[in-house]
Amino acid sequence: MHETGQSPAVIKFWGVRGGIPTPGPETVRVGGNTSCVEIRADGELIILDAGSGLRPLGRAIAAEFSESPVSLTLLITHTHWDHIQGFPFFVPAYSPRNHIRILGFEGARNDLQATLAGQMESPYFPIALAQMPGNIVIEELKSLRFEIGRISAEACHVNHPGVCVGYRLKTSNGSICYIPDHESAPLDAMEPDSVSATIEKKVIEFIREADVLIIDSQYTTEEYRSHVGWGHGCLDDVVRVARAARVRHLVLFHHDPGHDDDFMDGMLARARTLANGSDLHISLAKEGESVVLKPMPL
Ligand SMILES: [Zn+2]
Ligand SMILES: [Zn+2]
Repeated sequence: MHETGQSPAVIKFWGVRGGIPTPGPETVRVGGNTSCVEIRADGELIILDAGSGLRPLGRAIAAEFSESPVSLTLLITHTHWDHIQGFPFFVPAYSPRNHIRILGFEGARNDLQATLAGQMESPYFPIALAQMPGNIVIEELKSLRFEIGRISAEACHVNHPGVCVGYRLKTSNGSICYIPDHESAPLDAMEPDSVSATIEKKVIEFIREADVLIIDSQYTTEEYRSHVGWGHGCLDDVVRVARAARVRHLVLFHHDPGHDDDFMDGMLARARTLANGSDLHISLAKEGESVVLKPMPL
């Protein structure tokens, strides 16, 4: 185990897509797996969401740890299928040596345990959740603030159908915000006291001065016009919100299944143009790539 602040925090992207996996030559540079991000910080192994990217991550963890036991925390933002569909294929859950702590919030219609188990019931999958040999503990969070080892974590309810949160992890090397599904909209276009305006203000405070913000930027402005209320953000609004909250590094995430690699290059270029004149750094979440937060000067 490394001492606090002495080793970098590493954020690695294993699934960056929203909706449904999109394998194939047109998405090979950005990646086709659904939401899954790995964080290594302060001696912890934390996974954000269990989309189809969890399968290759599980294989990598199994290869790295080999015969040694693994203890990890899996944070679930919500139980839409693109955020949980990788779990039945997560190799570390099949070893009795391993300890997997799954944290999330109660869903709109079902508790977290029931929903995770539901996708593994016999009509859909041959092995039940209860039959997985790993030590799996599913905890429904009751408080918006909690700890993962030495990392302080916070959750914030966001604007997305059903129950959905974003997470903020305060590592010794900086703060990471992860909001994979959220419909951001300009405050001046909303009724001042409406539910969406209240949520939007809360989200802006939640991400304030984050070192890294990984956020839903699924649509272009043109696409967003025909998807209002679907629960996903558009590029222009995301850049505006990140600037308003003085975020340092914005990572565009939850890419639309219909956007191929060339289209994504165009979205990144547009985002950078929108951020001209500010010191906001912007990148695209790409499968297999990492963002490193270096130790802060003592
Ligand atoms: Zn999603
Ligand atoms: Zn969703």
